[in-house]
Amino acid sequence: MRPFSYTSATSTAEAIGLAASEQVRFLAGGTNLVDLMRAGIEEPEHVVDITRLPLDGVEELPDGGLRIGALARNTRVAGDARVRRRYPMLAQAIMNGASPQLRNRATVGGNILQRTRCGYFYDRAAACNKRVPGAGCDALEGFNRMHAVLGASDSCIAVHPSDMCVALAALDATVNIAGRDAAVPLTDFHRLPGDSPHVETVLAPGELITSIDLPAARPGRSVYLKVRDRATYAFALVSTAVQVHVENGRVAGARIALGGVAHKPWRAHEAEELLRGEAVDDDLLRRAAERSVAGARPRAHNAFKPELATRLVRRALEETTS
Ligand code: SF4
Repeated sequence: MRPFSYTSATSTAEAIGLAASEQVRFLAGGTNLVDLMRAGIEEPEHVVDITRLPLDGVEELPDGGLRIGALARNTRVAGDARVRRRYPMLAQAIMNGASPQLRNRATVGGNILQRTRCGYFYDRAAACNKRVPGAGCDALEGFNRMHAVLGASDSCIAVHPSDMCVALAALDATVNIAGRDAAVPLTDFHRLPGDSPHVETVLAPGELITSIDLPAARPGRSVYLKVRDRATYAFALVSTAVQVHVENGRVAGARIALGGVAHKPWRAHEAEELLRGEAVDDDLLRRAAERSVAGARPRAHNAFKPELATRLVRRALEETTS
């Protein structure tokens, strides 16, 4: 590991003041950053420890929503009675991620900012545009079973690994960033790879996530479903967060997000539009599930993903509309 200097910040202003360089990283739970530093993938010159900042609360908002501090531990958020009652798919998504030990350490902000688990990204002998811009991408013709089928580019086909973010995308969560007047919708926070996959979010160097806002809970039923190779402690092959409100047999509102399929949590707006106002029946749910992966472009080893995602979304729609 490359030597680095370390400061424990005592205020948000101090943390930001110390971080106005691309060579600085904020340290919170450390469950991803420390691994990346050990592997020589992240080599900051300076680490700013932010764990002493008062950003770990879960508070009510005047509009009926919840504000979740960026330093709130994943376990705490998933166990919060308000989250479990008003946003059950968020609690389900968090509980589907990582191991209990990791959830006890990992923070909400770190979960959002965690980096891809593409094996070539972690292999310093492999070509990876995300690790070394312009180096190429060994995943394109390599073992790409876990990789993206939506929104990818010829520069990068990595997926975002978070379960929590899939639920946040479906819930229309927004990200509060210190110093910015307007919050950023979670669905706009992560970038698609394009020709610059090393730029993963809209955060500028030195910017700090302070909290996540959830809008007031909406009527209807929701569920988070995940398919993975093991029953626990595995990243999603495909996951989905679905919330549907049915009134008098018709869909009054629908929100569908997918994980494990793209460089960011993937919101299936076209499928939501197809559902809105329609009478619920098997054919409608089938067509909406198929629409949720419209435009999918599989690679050599992940041709199963569009069909798997279609079946998973359909199951989630059946559970939330029955
Ligand atoms: Fe790197 Fe992205 Fe290619 Fe993986 S898919 S090797 S992260 S450029």
